[in-house]
Amino acid sequence: MTQHVPLYIDGEFRQSQSLQWVDVTNPADNSVIAKLPCATEDEIEEAISSAYETFKSWKEVPVPERSRLMLNYQQLLKTHHDEIATLLSSETGKIFADAKGDVWRGIEVVEQAANIASLMMGETVENVAKEIDTYSIMQPLGVCSGITPFNFPAMIPLWMFPMAIAAGNTFVLKPSDQVPLTSIRLAELFEQAGAPKGVLQIVHGQREQVDYLLAHPKIRTISFVGSVPVARHIYQTGTHHLKRVQAFAGAKNHMVVMPDANKEQVINNLVGSSVGAAGQRCMAISVAVLVDGTKEWIPELKQAMAKIRPGSWDDENAGYGPLISQKAKDRVLRLIREGKDQGAVCELDGSHCEVEGYPDGNWVAPTLFSSVQTSMSVYQEEIFGPVLLCVEVDTLEEAIALVNANPYGNGTSIFTACGAAARKYQHEIEVGQVGINVPIPVPLPFFSFTGWRGSFYGDLHAYGKQAVRFYTETKTVTSRWFDDDIPTGPNLTIHLR
Ligand code: NAD
Repeated sequence: MTQHVPLYIDGEFRQSQSLQWVDVTNPADNSVIAKLPCATEDEIEEAISSAYETFKSWKEVPVPERSRLMLNYQQLLKTHHDEIATLLSSETGKIFADAKGDVWRGIEVVEQAANIASLMMGETVENVAKEIDTYSIMQPLGVCSGITPFNFPAMIPLWMFPMAIAAGNTFVLKPSDQVPLTSIRLAELFEQAGAPKGVLQIVHGQREQVDYLLAHPKIRTISFVGSVPVARHIYQTGTHHLKRVQAFAGAKNHMVVMPDANKEQVINNLVGSSVGAAGQRCMAISVAVLVDGTKEWIPELKQAMAKIRPGSWDDENAGYGPLISQKAKDRVLRLIREGKDQGAVCELDGSHCEVEGYPDGNWVAPTLFSSVQTSMSVYQEEIFGPVLLCVEVDTLEEAIALVNANPYGNGTSIFTACGAAARKYQHEIEVGQVGINVPIPVPLPFFSFTGWRGSFYGDLHAYGKQAVRFYTETKTVTSRWFDDDIPTGPNLTIHLR
């Protein structure tokens, strides 16, 4: 029997009363694996009220106790690592080793959340005036919320609720409607780790449910990760309702290849970072900017890409899994067609891809284009598939200008043996995460995930110190204790120190 995905409200995993349900499918064969409810207004209201009431007691729980919850949680996540990864694979199609990486990247954030006491330390200056001290404290905000995408079902929810909750907030999560099962398992383990009832809530749904969260007066913050149009909608609507919003959006990530780079390293890194996870990573490299003579490397790049085949999540020889949906596959195939029609050279065409035993899966094999122009739709749109574009330029300056002219600024990398070229690139590039001989420079959780420009709307980013700032308010206290012999009397002017 097809399972019905539960909501998690007020500490209870329960069936929704909704009349509106959507199918959750296995992307390897498009069979229905679960039915997802679009939560009713009453259900969302109940989740928010419970989170709101729970906040009153949770914010008073001593910081070391909140840390200990995260220590227990990271341990449980590690114990259940394989099991979570298997579930995650079943709903995303991600190959098992990559699914384990998805979970691991989330665990690392929970480890960081366990360190919340030092992250929440304020500042003190003694004697700001005679016998007066000023100090700041960071306090939680209240009910925070998160809306997450399909492509990292463990990592991205774990970017959000552990940091928010460790900081003393409560949290309402709206997971991707395409991959809700991993979130439910994460919540079960959170409860098992000792999370009190009501600290975390999960509601499911689509635009209507998200819009309800965006407008709700009791919700203080919105953390969103997903596509560009939705990120814009979330940022505009959330800020219109005077909420603090961080919205992580789509990308087009370039790797600049200098002629002095190690060719084998370049090819291996280009293949892995462009087709890994079927290109469904917001930090995937989708454009190789080939400087000077490096376009001569295209035939070897093509050979290396052609060796990678997609397959089922439990096939150890598969390089990556299917695209998330038939709709996603249709978009990728349309862009491949348009690339050919608009004059790019299709060196390797993965449009017609079959995987034995899975005739109905959303498969696309590695695809490589050369002679791509920036005016082509294949360059202008985020493809989010296993497709690599090669753009050819003569100099590093041209490469920098090209990357900076692109509207997105999530990640980029340069491969070179020259420190001066790397330093110039790092300094001049208008992208938030830069790799030097590192293709996908996702920062570990003691830093923050810092996309720029069209890849991010907001100011404070995910995890690390910036997340603690996002999920807290700073209170600044100025304090004086009167000594008996200090003369008092009204002071009617600003005191000149
Ligand atoms: P999506 O925008 O379709 O969905 C994201 C979330 O928004 C889901 O929970 C979905 O249910 C909800 N949603 C969908 N349509 C909505 C609407 N009209 N109004 C309100 N909510 C809506 O994104 P996706 O396809 O799940 O994820 C892939 C996208 O996410 C890619 O563009 C990728 O680049 C981006 N992404 C960005 C980052 C980053 O850090 N910048 C990380 C991961 C993914």
